[in-house]
Amino acid sequence: MILPFPIFEPHQEKLTFGTTLKELGSFDDQSKNFGEQLNKLPTKPIIFCDQVHGDEIHVFVDKPIRKPEGDAFITQKKGLGLAIKVADCQGILLFDPTTSTIAAIHAGWKGVAENIVPKTIDVLENALTVDPSDLLVGISPSLGPCCSEFTDPKTELPDFMHPYAKDRHVDLWKLVDDQLNKAGIPKENIERIKECTKCNKDKYFSHRNKDKERMAVFISLK
Ligand SMILES: [Zn+2]
Repeated sequence: MILPFPIFEPHQEKLTFGTTLKELGSFDDQSKNFGEQLNKLPTKPIIFCDQVHGDEIHVFVDKPIRKPEGDAFITQKKGLGLAIKVADCQGILLFDPTTSTIAAIHAGWKGVAENIVPKTIDVLENALTVDPSDLLVGISPSLGPCCSEFTDPKTELPDFMHPYAKDRHVDLWKLVDDQLNKAGIPKENIERIKECTKCNKDKYFSHRNKDKERMAVFISLK
């Protein structure tokens, strides 16, 4: 089954989008049946990045490069699906109805620490003339503040993340929501599925539950 993002539903004529649930199987691109799995997604072709928990952003103007390495990608090309594979990390989808631009970000704590989210919005704004206040954002289920435990957040994370740490837990949901707001995206344009992947193991794969499998969070322009 595929979980929709209600925030994108008024734009269904232009967009295909969603998050796969555990029952649809793994979308890890290293797995043997990855090709078969892709047939379960409602959009083709679809590009998965070789995610490296960094801050590299790709803009696909015409064709995507083969096996891009990075954690965010952007396109205005119709029919080209962008997908993030997740199991605890946040899969963040962005859509600008004015310029018909889409983006997908893989935001684990390492990428968040490297500011992958504001950096992607910066590229949208400065390279593609997107007004951040027009952007609509859908965020996949991910590790909640209940389960995002670190050994010592004060030494493991950069200073700007410390205000989000309470005991040994870090509220990565609030942190990313604040980054999106600060970059100019209004609160009402952001839809986060507030379900923790580790707590809901019947529905979602979770790296912290030792799952090797991944879910797909995807978007494409029709
Ligand atoms: Zn949890």
